[in-house]
Amino acid sequence: MKCPRCKTVNDNTRTICTKCGFYLYRNDSDPRTRLSKEQIAEMDRRVIWNRIKTVLKWTWRVIVFIVMIYWIIVIFMWASDYLGVSLG
Ligand SMILES: [Zn+2]
Repeated sequence: MKCPRCKTVNDNTRTICTKCGFYLYRNDSDPRTRLSKEQIAEMDRRVIWNRIKTVLKWTWRVIVFIVMIYWIIVIFMWASDYLGVSLG
């Protein structure tokens, strides 16, 4: 169904918009598509977990980036000290 907030078209089993996380309330007029609360909760957990994984992935990239910058600075400072001494 279509998200009322961001207009993203989610598949009919979604209860949370995959793009903005808006809660989608379906009108369960068709009993065949009706899902149990457990199934809906399971899908919600999956969407939330995917969001957490995305956040963790980006957090990890930022940490790696900061550590790399730190080591580049350390090596650069060590190298300039070393060269400075060796050149007299
Ligand atoms: Zn949305």
